[in-house]
Amino acid sequence: MQLLYSILLTFFGVLAISATKIYHCTEPNTIALTFDDGPYEYTMDLLDQLQAYDIHVTFFINGYNMWHDLETDPKKQAVLKRAAADGHQIASHTWKHLIPENKDEIVPMMNRLDDIIEKNVGYRPKYFRPPYGKCDPECAKYFESLGYHVIQWDTDTHDWDLSIGVDERVAEVKKFLTDQWAQKKENYLILMHDIHKSTVQSIIPWVLKHAPLDEYKFVTVAECLGNKKEGSSKSKSDSESSVRTSKIEDDDRSLPETDLVAGNNTIIDTTEGDVQNLDIDSSDAQKITYHFTFSIIFLAYILLMHL
Ligand SMILES: [Zn+2]
Repeated sequence: MQLLYSILLTFFGVLAISATKIYHCTEPNTIALTFDDGPYEYTMDLLDQLQAYDIHVTFFINGYNMWHDLETDPKKQAVLKRAAADGHQIASHTWKHLIPENKDEIVPMMNRLDDIIEKNVGYRPKYFRPPYGKCDPECAKYFESLGYHVIQWDTDTHDWDLSIGVDERVAEVKKFLTDQWAQKKENYLILMHDIHKSTVQSIIPWVLKHAPLDEYKFVTVAECLGNKKEGSSKSKSDSESSVRTSKIEDDDRSLPETDLVAGNNTIIDTTEGDVQNLDIDSSDAQKITYHFTFSIIFLAYILLMHL
């Protein structure tokens, strides 16, 4: 009996720790295109193309990556304004494409980027993708405690890897996506990078022409998860007195965490600031209920062990 309890405890313990990162959309017949590491000089071109097809995507942006003066250059910030005005979601990919090892530096760094996003698009991001997708369960739980949904992907185009040659990569991505769409999966959470000319000028025109636009709805990550559209989160000043919420997702499926693109993993600025607090929408409430129920069961097992 003791062995059974131990097995159950281990099982639920692992479940409790790993049930954090989100790899998949939940809404059927949706495709969420995501673009990491920008904004950059090709992003405006991408916005023009997406607008022509009335498709909404998600940008996981950095504050200091390809552009070093996004924080101060209104012309570069105009890209964010345009993206949000077009209906795209702006999400966080960290300030410098890096999660600092010193935990004390994380919140100021996240806030520095969130401040830029809020200033330009009117909300603080609720969605976060770790650089290279590298964030262990403890890390994911920490970012959830800050109020972020931690987003991975289930369809990796590897568009960043141009080591095989630009033309070869473009051909590979076309082949890969053709195969993916032929599988007619329920939904797709696709990883790409708008910092590459080949992605914006060769891959995206092909995607828009050949994607199953009549079978799937192309939506933001928030929408493909059935959440309210970005823009509904509170401003920093509104939320400072609110109760901070910690949200846990119900997905523990694992995928290989392949690297995305080399960022500028250098020093981290430590501007003072508080992390945002977020309101809870209906799907969040469901998840919290689920985990509350799970916690009760888990506690029951612990009590049984001591009987
Ligand atoms: Zn990245």
